[in-house]
Amino acid sequence: MATVLIVDDSRTSRRILRTMLENHGFTIVAEAEEGEAGYLKYKELSPDLVTMDITMPHMDGIESLSLIKHANANAKVIMVTAAGQKEKMVEALKRGADDFITKPFDENEIINAMTRILEK
Ligand SMILES: [Mg+2]
Repeated sequence: MATVLIVDDSRTSRRILRTMLENHGFTIVAEAEEGEAGYLKYKELSPDLVTMDITMPHMDGIESLSLIKHANANAKVIMVTAAGQKEKMVEALKRGADDFITKPFDENEIINAMTRILEK
């Protein structure tokens, strides 16, 4: 089954994502609380998918996405966005984001996005 790295500064968001994904057979290989730690975990573990929150302290999700895509252009990264982040979403697309999921999380939306990206 697919392996996933969750990068998000919100403990609650990480817990919700983990539960939803595990319920659908995904394996969470690690969690990170900010972008640089997420990038290092990506390099260490090479997960099939990354869920990347945009707004985080220290290094944000846009910067971390850039580093991951630079390390592996085929990395699959799904950005996690909140309402009112259109500019950030455009920037993430430019830097190679594969898809977006929005908070509050919708289980069907997330699983559909994950499945679609893995089939690409
Ligand atoms: Mg955040």
